[in-house]
Amino acid sequence: MDLTFSDSEAAFRDELRAWFATNDPGPEPSGEDANYAWRRDWQRRLAEGGWAGVHWPREYGGRGATLTESAIFFEELGRARAPLPANVLGLLLAGPTLMTYGTDEQKDRYLTPILTAEEIWCQGFSEPEAGSDLAALKTRAVKDGDGWVVTGQKVWTSGAQHSKWCMLVARTDSEVPKHKGLTYFLMDMEQEGVQVRPLVQITGEPEFNELFIEGARIPDENVLGGVGNGWKVALTTLMNERSGLAFFLQVRLRQLLDELVEEAAARGLLDDPVVADELGRLHMKAEILRLTAYRGLSTIEKYGAPGPEGSLTKWMWSETNQELAQFAADLLGADALTMGNRWAYELLRSRGNTIEGGTTEILKNIVAERVLGLPRLKGATA
Ligand SMILES: Cc1cc2nc3c(=O)[nH]c(=O)nc-3n(C[C@H](O)[C@H](O)[C@H](O)COP(=O)(O)OP(=O)(O)OC[C@H]3O[C@@H](n4cnc5c(N)ncnc54)[C@H](O)[C@@H]3O)c2cc1C
Repeated sequence: MDLTFSDSEAAFRDELRAWFATNDPGPEPSGEDANYAWRRDWQRRLAEGGWAGVHWPREYGGRGATLTESAIFFEELGRARAPLPANVLGLLLAGPTLMTYGTDEQKDRYLTPILTAEEIWCQGFSEPEAGSDLAALKTRAVKDGDGWVVTGQKVWTSGAQHSKWCMLVARTDSEVPKHKGLTYFLMDMEQEGVQVRPLVQITGEPEFNELFIEGARIPDENVLGGVGNGWKVALTTLMNERSGLAFFLQVRLRQLLDELVEEAAARGLLDDPVVADELGRLHMKAEILRLTAYRGLSTIEKYGAPGPEGSLTKWMWSETNQELAQFAADLLGADALTMGNRWAYELLRSRGNTIEGGTTEILKNIVAERVLGLPRLKGATA
């Protein structure tokens, strides 16, 4: 693993830092809608500066950045304390999946509005009885003339309340084995038959939603990657889920840790060996996380395909983030839980970290089977 940056990578970082120095998103507003509008505006500005979709090829309006440059982008975004762009699912998931499986017409139609945040995307995969076991999903799409009629329910659909389009996986054939009967659709959210009901999380924010689909129509031209090919297309989306973000998240984790150290110092707590020991342990984990993320990058650059580091990084980040928030609550006591205090938010929001984007148990299964070569669990879903 080579951790040095080339001259052109260093120049890329300098250029980005200079841009962030004169462009900042402004203060974060409170309230879900205002916060979302703020992040949407931030993405528009990133797009104007040529920094939205840095990892997208130039022919699709991106910057054609290498993987390392893309990692640098996310690190610098975190370092600048700027938010993730509003259309993060469009940029990281829908865009790359469209580039892989889309027809020329689909690429022409959808990619630019993703970059500019003009059209927001959500991911309609999970259902009440199909999360980890995605292939068990029950939402049905039935052929009807030159399109499809969809009926079913999705859940935990992040950002659906702001979305124009949904990456929807539905069952189009129930006669074949469950992985084979799925199709990937681009579903217009602004139509009759699609109802979005926000779910309020423990943080008080309606970040995700229930999605009720009753007789919604999807035209044939909105099938992505061919009828019956949905499993393969969905895996492409999931493979992109962790790309780049790890670098943003590890920087954010480090910033939170630094803030806790400052707070502990201000309260004269650093002489306590138990406190010092725990802060040291969290620091070590944050550093291992950073190095594992870089190691994942060099695996892709060397072998052309992602290794198990993506699963390891997600697992480690989510658990370390929870441990950090819990330790802050233990250390600061009631102060940490005062409403409006960021640690209360971190403590509550971090609970979802070990579920979203692949649960810890599923990630452990992947590591057990693909890294340690242990036998596949009977009845396992991943
Ligand atoms: C904040 C947040 C945002 C989300 N956003 C989206 C979104 O935008 N779009 C979307 O489609 N989904 C989204 N999800 C859903 C998320 O992907 C699912 O919650 C996740 O895949 C787990 O599925 P499940 O909730 O159905 O749990 P289940 O799959 O029912 O799992 C329940 C428990 O059993 C364990 N388990 C299941 N199978 C195995 C196995 N084979 N071996 C060992 N343990 C197992 C799981 O790890 C878990 O602990 C989001 C979730 C959260 C928390």
